Parts: sequence; structure tokens; C-alpha cells
Amino acid sequence: MMLPLLTAEHRMLQQTLRQFAEKELAPGAADRDTTGAFAWDAFKSLGKIGGLGLMIPPEYGGSGGDTFSTQILMQELGRADAGMALSIGAHSFLCGYSLYRDGNEAQRQKYLPKLTSGEWVGCWGITEPGAGSDVAGITCQAKKEAGGWRLNGAKMFVTNAPIADVFIVLAISDADKPPIKGGASFFLVEKGTPGLSTGKPLDKMGMRASPTSEIIFEDCFIPDENLLGTEGCGFRHAMQTLDLERCGLGGIGLGLMEASLALAKGYACERKQFKVPIASFQGIQFKLADMASATETCRLHLWHTAWLREQGQPINVAAAMSKLYGGEAAIKVADTAIQILGGYGYIKEFAAERYLRDARLFTIGGGTSDIQRLIISREILR
Ligand SMILES: Cc1cc2nc3c(=O)[nH]c(=O)nc-3n(C[C@H](O)[C@H](O)[C@H](O)COP(=O)(O)OP(=O)(O)OC[C@H]3O[C@@H](n4cnc5c(N)ncnc54)[C@H](O)[C@@H]3O)c2cc1C
Repeated sequence: MMLPLLTAEHRMLQQTLRQFAEKELAPGAADRDTTGAFAWDAFKSLGKIGGLGLMIPPEYGGSGGDTFSTQILMQELGRADAGMALSIGAHSFLCGYSLYRDGNEAQRQKYLPKLTSGEWVGCWGITEPGAGSDVAGITCQAKKEAGGWRLNGAKMFVTNAPIADVFIVLAISDADKPPIKGGASFFLVEKGTPGLSTGKPLDKMGMRASPTSEIIFEDCFIPDENLLGTEGCGFRHAMQTLDLERCGLGGIGLGLMEASLALAKGYACERKQFKVPIASFQGIQFKLADMASATETCRLHLWHTAWLREQGQPINVAAAMSKLYGGEAAIKVADTAIQILGGYGYIKEFAAERYLRDARLFTIGGGTSDIQRLIISREILR
């Protein structure tokens, strides 16, 4: 579906990214799902065509672009390989864009060109082993000392952590204040800093091309210049980044829904039972109709959220709705694709079962569906 919200430039970007994803990501997606390998070549090529620096101005190596462009990127990568889309989203938006938005000039100049070109990989961690939905419950400590900060604690489930060169992490910087009221700040930590280590890559159900691990800080010294943004603003910045993450995950979900629908439609037109293609049965047709309706509703939610952001309006509730609806719909659509493929949907030869395993993240990552419902209901009852 083409909406009048998209300009000729957006359509051109979509065409370029679709060609890129079909050529560079789709062919190896099933293998990476098995091996957990990261698509380094595709990552670097995306850097060359400007896909790692969307929403970052050209003076820092970015290619500019608006919120719609980021949706298009996530959607097109998500169609081909949701795991790589997840990693590229965490690198570009959680790490790169928050560094651009909150960082000072020296930090932007030092890190952004490396991130937008794909020379370095970035990650962003707020979740801890004991604090997920309750971000204000983090315990990772940054204690002030001469010339910098001493970090102790751990982060959990951080996308790209096993391969990252730069880590953006949230820590308690003032133990006398609650994190929500000025007690938390973000810090930039470079790979190789003494006291920083990462756990083994976690063996996940889906999104297996995207490496995830724990990060451990043991008396890790961070110089003053690596405080990201204003001291004490960490919680607010985390919430802004989560809004953007929810749009990105929604975009990956949309791409995955499009891929599930295309697979199911193609199969239904080919597969014959009772001497006719199964697509001629109304039971199958209705399933395809439900899949298509959910896909288009998800698209409208996302474009509406992107439009609000471009108008400078708050997106907290709209992003929560996009993520809640899109996340749950993606699981249902991927599951229906399996049903249409029957036994072939249940085996690894076809991508349908991978789509479902990948989609399962969408009601967990970036805040669970329950947390999105909390955000939405809080607004209704305000
Ligand atoms: C593959 C993957 C990649 C990730 N990448 C990152 C990353 O890059 N950076 C990062 O910081 N984090 C990342 N995460 C972490 C993710 O954001 C958290 O897993 C998520 O926020 C949920 O936190 P939790 O796992 O601790 O679950 P919990 O918060 O422990 O929740 C457990 C259950 O309790 C429910 N629950 C909790 N509180 C409430 C409530 N108030 N009302 C109702 N129900 C509630 C939840 O909905 C859930 O069903 C990633 C996770 C995964 C799986």
C-alpha cells in the first residue's frame, strides 16, 4: 500500500533498500538462523550506501532522513532477515541516534563517523539481570571520582554486545536521588576498557543472527568526557530512545508480516489438495484476508506515529500502540502462515517457522506488551 505521506524520495529509498536486502540479506538468512553468524559484509555495505546513518546529519557521516525513512529501513530489512534488522536498528538508532541526540560535539565527532560507516558496532543497554520492565530498578552504579566515574554492575540481553566497539549504558550516578528524578546517567564505554567484559552470546529462540549478551562492569573506570549528555538526564533519555525503539521494532514486525503473507500466498496458489490449489478454499482465503488486514493496520499505526514525530508531537502513546498492536499481530500472522503451509510450515526448509520464532520477540523486547498496555491505559485514565 502506498500512502500519500511517502514522498518520491521515500519510494526511491524503499526500492534501493529492498534491492539491497533481497541481494545481500535474504539469501543467507536461513543459514545465519542456524549458525548465529552476523552478516558482516551486508552490515558494511549498508554503511556504504548510507543505511547506518539515517536521521544523522551528513557532517557526522550520516545520510539525514526522517522518521519515515527509518520505518522504511526497518521494514525492508525485516522482510529479508529480522535478526539482522534488529542488530542494525540497535546499532543505528539505540546507539547511533541517541549518541547524536544527547552527545556533545566532541562525542559526536569522535564516534558517529565510525558508527555510520560500519567501521564500529554500537550497542545500548538499560536492562539488567534484575531490572527489565522496571527501568528505575537498575542497580548498576557509577561512582564519581577524580577525572571520571567507576562503573560496577551488569546489563542483560544487550543486542550487539558480543561484537560491540562502543557501549552506551545507563547507571545510577547519584545514589541519593531516584533514577527517575535525576539519579541516573548514560555512559559511553569503549571496547577494551579495563573492567568491561561481555558474557557468552545467548542461545536464543529467534533473532538468531543478532548477537545478544550480558555486559559486566568490574571497577571499570570511565573518563569524565564519556558521560553522555547531561548528568542526571539518563532516565528521560532512556524513555525517548525506547519510543524510537518501539517504532523500529514495529517496522521489523511489518516487514516480517509482509514476508509471511507473501510466502503463504505463494504456497496457497501452488499447493494442490482435492485436485485444486488450496487458495481456492474459502478457509484459506479468509486467513490470507486476515493476514493482509493486520499487516495494513500495522502499517497505518506506524506511519501515523512517524507523522506525529515529524510534526514535533509526542509519540509515547502512539509508539506504544504501534508496538502493542504490531507485535501481537506479527506473531499471529506468522503463525497463520505456518497453518497455511501445513506440515511444510513446521519444518525448517520453509521460512515460516523462523518468522514465528523471530516474531516472538516483538511482545518482549523494547518493553513487553503489558508495559505498552500500562503506558496506553495511564494516558486514558489521566
Ligand atoms: C533478543 C533480545 C534483545 C534485547 N535487546 C536489548 C537491548 O539491546 N538493550 C536493552 O537494554 N535491553 C534489551 N532487551 C531486554 C528487553 O527490553 C527486556 O527483556 C524487556 O524489557 C522485559 O524485561 P525482562 O525480560 O526483565 O522481563 P520482566 O520485566 O521481568 O517481565 C516478566 C513478565 O512480567 C510482566 N510484567 C512486569 N511488570 C509488569 C507490570 N507492571 N504489569 C504487568 N505485567 C508486568 C512482563 O510483561 C513479563 O510478562 C532485549 C531482550 C531480548 C530478548
